[in-house]
Amino acid sequence: MLKIREHVPLAQRTTFGIGKTARYFVEVRTEEEIKEAIAWARAKGVSPVVLSGGSNVLLPDEELDALVVNVVSDDFSFADTELEAEAGCNLLHLIREAAERNLGGWEKLAGIPGTIGGAVRGNAGAFGPEIKDFVVRVRALDIELGETRELDNDACDFSYRHSFFKDHPEWIITRAWVKLGKADPVASKELIEETIRERERRHIQNVRAAGSFFVNPVAPKEVQELFEKEKGMKSREGRVPAGWLIEKVGLKGARVGDAVASEQHPNYIKNDGEATAAQVKELAQKIKDAVHKEFGIELQEEAVVL
Ligand SMILES: Cc1cc2nc3c(=O)[nH]c(=O)nc-3n(C[C@H](O)[C@H](O)[C@H](O)COP(=O)(O)OP(=O)(O)OC[C@H]3O[C@@H](n4cnc5c(N)ncnc54)[C@H](O)[C@@H]3O)c2cc1C
Repeated sequence: MLKIREHVPLAQRTTFGIGKTARYFVEVRTEEEIKEAIAWARAKGVSPVVLSGGSNVLLPDEELDALVVNVVSDDFSFADTELEAEAGCNLLHLIREAAERNLGGWEKLAGIPGTIGGAVRGNAGAFGPEIKDFVVRVRALDIELGETRELDNDACDFSYRHSFFKDHPEWIITRAWVKLGKADPVASKELIEETIRERERRHIQNVRAAGSFFVNPVAPKEVQELFEKEKGMKSREGRVPAGWLIEKVGLKGARVGDAVASEQHPNYIKNDGEATAAQVKELAQKIKDAVHKEFGIELQEEAVVL
């Protein structure tokens, strides 16, 4: 029996620490529970909103008039070099558990907050590797048709910070299978901790933010060349870092209320106290306008703004 609660505070369920309450809120573990929750939302006439680790969302300052479906499934198992994990499993926990079993290859993803379901949806990545490099297949539930399907890596249509699931929010990821390699557990654990230390050094860890606020955009040739000349590195897939663009338009450290474009990593809009969603949005718009005016580039949000 589902336990649907009302007016549940949401801010502390997100890494931003912003947001008011959910009109309705439910924790789900199984596909059956998700189906039940969706049927309940339909009957009530409210939209369902999936929330997992809450590390890539900006919630509104007002009550969210929806049923927040919080995926908390956390079971996983290993068979040979393959990991099968429920969508709500914390990604770092899985990476650490794999290392305990002499399995690795994905250690550079350590420290990306949130769940494996969230990581698959956004094809999360860091320092080169992305989750797509390890996913074998994904099980998901189409909440419109009530059908489950297993999609192989190709069908997930992964690309930079993108997957099939981003274009199809009616699909809820319930499970993922990941192929790992044999690894020396000592070296693997050291690489995990070194990766987290590197993230702390770069100020991209433990920040009250939603990670990179904007996707690194594809830039016109002359902007790519300017970036390459200034930074002495090649732009990847014709993209330049959004953080570099923000710095170029003089908005590194810019502030609206308690929302700040981080000094160390300007593409992180951080909550520097009691920031509101309105302040974050105003700062984001300021950044978008300035980057568009200076470079003709339309920045797109990576974080999900509700
Ligand atoms: C400090 C910090 C550092 C970060 N560093 C990185 C980084 O290095 N690389 C990177 O790629 N990202 C990074 N991020 C962003 C974030 O951690 C990732 O996007 C993460 O994968 C989101 O997972 P989540 O479980 O928290 O998703 P949530 O924030 O809960 O949800 C994000 C979106 O995915 C949807 N969603 C969640 N679960 C499911 C599911 N099971 N099925 C379908 N849709 C679902 C939600 O509806 C929502 O639209 C960082 C964030 C923070 C706060």
